[in-house]
Amino acid sequence: MSKRTVAIFSLGGTIAMTTDPATGGVVPALSAQELLDAVPALQDLDVDLQAHDFRRLPGASLGFDDLTALSDAIGDAFQAGCDGAVVTQGTDTIEETAYLLDLLHAGDQPIVVTGAMRNPTQPGADGPANIHAAGVCAASTELNGAGTVVVLCDQIHAARTVRKSHSTSPAAFTSPAAGPLGHLYEGRVHLHGPLAPRATFPGALTNPAPRVGLYTAALGDDGTLLGTMAEACDGLVMAAFGVGHVPQSFVATLETTAARIPVVLASRIGNGPVLEATYSFPGSEKDLLARGLIRGGHLDAYKARVLLYLLLAQGRKTDEIAAIFRAVAN
Ligand code: ASP
Repeated sequence: MSKRTVAIFSLGGTIAMTTDPATGGVVPALSAQELLDAVPALQDLDVDLQAHDFRRLPGASLGFDDLTALSDAIGDAFQAGCDGAVVTQGTDTIEETAYLLDLLHAGDQPIVVTGAMRNPTQPGADGPANIHAAGVCAASTELNGAGTVVVLCDQIHAARTVRKSHSTSPAAFTSPAAGPLGHLYEGRVHLHGPLAPRATFPGALTNPAPRVGLYTAALGDDGTLLGTMAEACDGLVMAAFGVGHVPQSFVATLETTAARIPVVLASRIGNGPVLEATYSFPGSEKDLLARGLIRGGHLDAYKARVLLYLLLAQGRKTDEIAAIFRAVAN
């Protein structure tokens, strides 16, 4: 096999942070090349690594524009013959960015997103190990067709299922309902089963910056804030209780809103699906779906928002969006 080529794109995040003398806290500072230089073991992989300094931001400040520009740049790298790509970024938004990159990437080359929970100034910083693991995954043929995966702590997660499940642990990333796709053992990719087919939507974004709201159901909410927010939205994800239930006070607002814009019913739990045919009281999943909400199925609320954003940005109408959610989210 000829030498593999991997493009590395650095976006910032804890993995790239060093101490700011002015504040004493850490801020994004390291370049893509500096991240690679900190991992001498990468040289043993016999992979041609191409460093791209893309952004230097905390994960929280990345936007859809940054990610669509990144997706284009990764596409250019693949066009130029790269076999895989690594993205390093803040872990706070990996579960969303990775899914957007996955939806936009129809090719077979793996895109591997990684980050670090401990910054480079801390004992046991996990960035170097994660970059090494990501490089192995991006260069491997086993992940051809996997789309975008998230690799930290020697675990390989599908972008569609991964969640940041702990605020500080190096083992913060899990796929609550599905488990990881695989692990790295002795520096090699081990998949636990065949790769599932995935849906992609690589079309142009002709309708820039749709405003997609995410509203979480909580005890005793009278629905006033939901109504205020819904008025400002082009699309809305309702992160409901449990299997897709909201207070009765939300029902009229959700029905009116769903007649105007796409409203996706997801669960605030982040593990397990929204149901469709079990409960029928006002504010239940059956009731809300009958009032025009779109079932988020197995997609958690954050992933549902990313998919809804992309479909709206591509200028798709509510009927088509509903059909896509039926096909993708189950
Ligand atoms: N707050 C950081 C960020 O997302 C956390 C991290 O990278 O782990 O930029």
